Amino acid sequence: MVKNIAVIRGDGIGPEIVEQALKVLNRIAELYGHTFSYTDVDMGGCAIDKYGDPLPDSELKKCVESDSVLLGAVGGDKWNDVPGPKRPEKGLLRLRAGMGVYSNNRPAKIWKQLADASPLKKSIVDKGIDFIIVRELIGGIYFGEHKTEGDTATDILKYSETEIERIGRIGFETARKRNKKLCSVEKSNVLDSSRLWKKVMHRLAEEYPDVELSDMLVDNCAMQIVKNPAQFDVVVTENMFGDILSDEASMITGSIGMIPSSSLGSTTCGLYEPIHGSAPDIAGKDIANPIGTILSAAMMLRYSFDMSEEADAIENAVSAYLDAGYRTADIMSDGMTKVGCSRCGDLVLENLKKE
Ligand code: NAD
Repeated sequence: MVKNIAVIRGDGIGPEIVEQALKVLNRIAELYGHTFSYTDVDMGGCAIDKYGDPLPDSELKKCVESDSVLLGAVGGDKWNDVPGPKRPEKGLLRLRAGMGVYSNNRPAKIWKQLADASPLKKSIVDKGIDFIIVRELIGGIYFGEHKTEGDTATDILKYSETEIERIGRIGFETARKRNKKLCSVEKSNVLDSSRLWKKVMHRLAEEYPDVELSDMLVDNCAMQIVKNPAQFDVVVTENMFGDILSDEASMITGSIGMIPSSSLGSTTCGLYEPIHGSAPDIAGKDIANPIGTILSAAMMLRYSFDMSEEADAIENAVSAYLDAGYRTADIMSDGMTKVGCSRCGDLVLENLKKE
């Protein structure tokens, strides 16, 4: 297969971690006979320095015209005082809106080799943690009207059936590619928008008879994620609930440097990035953990390019690298061998085999 990938290295540790993911993608191309071509895109602080704009139209166009986008991270102290629309993060918001990605998918997976890093009890971790939260990204209370009048403030939470249906479909499709269990999370005992959410999910379920749908109230879900995370396969929820639950879910897995994410819309062109930021405190030192970015590349293969075998090969290589006892500084523990960012990339490559 021939695929054109837009590559945003960004700021801080962005260029270092993206380099490792590109090494891995190049080896996958060799092993499986694909052609990946890369289009460099400037976004974030580096784009402000170059063009005075965190994402000029010309750069956004390259992303929209690509088969998918791989992003490191953007931002840093240097641009903190830049006024509103010229901040690096505005580039990211513009990119999401410009690509029309309304679904953010974040896996919460614990690697058995890193079980000690989880703040949960061993008996809970031992049952396994491996689920995805599918979060609606461009609707709900964050995008409703915000108003303050005197001593009263209001924020409007609004969802249409169309908005719920399109994110619901991503939930069902994601579950189909995994263990076929979808948990729809809402607050239907209180909110009208949640009652509509639930109704639409159950209507969609008729089109996906192979996927088992369950409902859960958001407050219960927050408890269940720490009490019994092994019960979840795919969780689908609205914007604000997803924002909170996905942070909770990433925390229980231990390290921020290990977690990838994808954002998808109505086409297969997705945005893939680690969940962490540009980590300016460790930039340029070759000590960042590139695994979150490498696994984001694996998600791109699985969800945008329909290359499950290739994605499995990357995930197995990461697992073998951890089995061999190598750790970057952020997940270092007694008896392990400490490695830097580029060495980590090389070691994942050494373990990468055709499945
Ligand atoms: P951060 O995620 O960059 O860093 C938080 C802590 O985690 C730091 O101590 C950092 O060294 C560590 N860390 C993060 N990624 C790591 C990795 N791969 N390996 C090892 N350690 C890692 O969050 P922050 O410090 O709050 O933000 C720094 C900058 O990043 C800010 O400008 C912020 O706006 C930006 N940011 C960007 C994105 C994005 O591009 N998607 C997301 C969040 C924050």
